[in-house]
Amino acid sequence: MQAPQPGSYPAQPHMGAPHMPVTHQAPAYQPSPQIPVPNVAGATGPVQIVCPYCKASGMTNTVKQASSMQWIICVLCFFFCFPCTCSPFYIPSCYKITHSCQFCKSQIGTNNK
Ligand SMILES: [Zn+2]
Repeated sequence: MQAPQPGSYPAQPHMGAPHMPVTHQAPAYQPSPQIPVPNVAGATGPVQIVCPYCKASGMTNTVKQASSMQWIICVLCFFFCFPCTCSPFYIPSCYKITHSCQFCKSQIGTNNK
């Protein structure tokens, strides 16, 4: 009965942040100065964040979009190296990955800034 339920949310360790009382004066969807916007640059998959908007911690939702660079490479390969035409689309880092909060859906950032 005292054992935690499987699947229950584990307590997140504070990352060196001082234990500060939470004030309820800040309006919703305003970035808090206590929580910087997570840096998701270079991340091609979901990353663990603390959302600066709703303060929830969790993995980001990612949306993968083909970048314009991929289309340029694709067209160049079509003319100069036909077997490589689709190769840019097999390289995850070529995609533009948009990270958003899974709770409040606010956009956190993209993998290429
Ligand atoms: Zn959020």
